[in-house]
Amino acid sequence: MNIIKENLQSIKKNIENAAIRSKRDPKDILLLGVTKTIDIERINELINLGVTDIGENKVQELLHKYEKLGNTPNWHLIGHLQTNKVKYIIDKVKLIHSVDNIKLAEEINKRAKQNNIIINILIEVNIAGEESKKGVNPDNTEKLIEQIVKFDSIRVKGLMTVAPYVENPQNNRVYFKQMHNLFIDIRDKNKDNIDMEFLSMGMTNDYEIAIEEGSNIIRIGTGLFGARNYN
Ligand SMILES: *Cc1c(COP(=O)(O)O)cnc(C)c1O
Repeated sequence: MNIIKENLQSIKKNIENAAIRSKRDPKDILLLGVTKTIDIERINELINLGVTDIGENKVQELLHKYEKLGNTPNWHLIGHLQTNKVKYIIDKVKLIHSVDNIKLAEEINKRAKQNNIIINILIEVNIAGEESKKGVNPDNTEKLIEQIVKFDSIRVKGLMTVAPYVENPQNNRVYFKQMHNLFIDIRDKNKDNIDMEFLSMGMTNDYEIAIEEGSNIIRIGTGLFGARNYN
């Protein structure tokens, strides 16, 4: 059997089991296929297997693939976004996962308004306080959201995190729990323009733990396509 198909089937099975362990419907968990470095042919294979949502971490690469695939998949920007590149992707992406500062939000709002659209975003949180990672400090997350809510062409839809790289995925459970608590705290305040629907966390190494702790978008690259070749 085709390797991508085989990988997808086992990931789906794992999603199902983890969802059941966390007393949720597996259908409520979105599998995002992460396709950085992956060629169009293999992305098409994944789409043909029924994966509807694709994540890219670089604007240039997303645009290149968008040219070929158009709106067939739903595109998600999951990597760092520079303000000067917002204009290129604003009308192409369904969700921006990586907003972590007010200047970026301001630019997204401006470009969304020019395009007459409302754009959905997630706030990226640096949950483990890693020097090397993007994302807002957990303690400043609510304050940032309160500022962003004033922009009427942006809808805050939830939170995203990239957890630390760990050998044993159980070691990330504490961070996923903290993310879930933050998510629930903000959601329960029921503020206008904040619609806490998505908690984007969990990658190839740790997605089952992330689901157990409340994730509803998992972002999987290696698990579907094998190790990436950056050459
Ligand atoms: C590359 C990437 C992923 C997928 O990582 P894998 O370990 O290959 O599943 C998920 N999220 C972000 C932000 C990424 O850049």
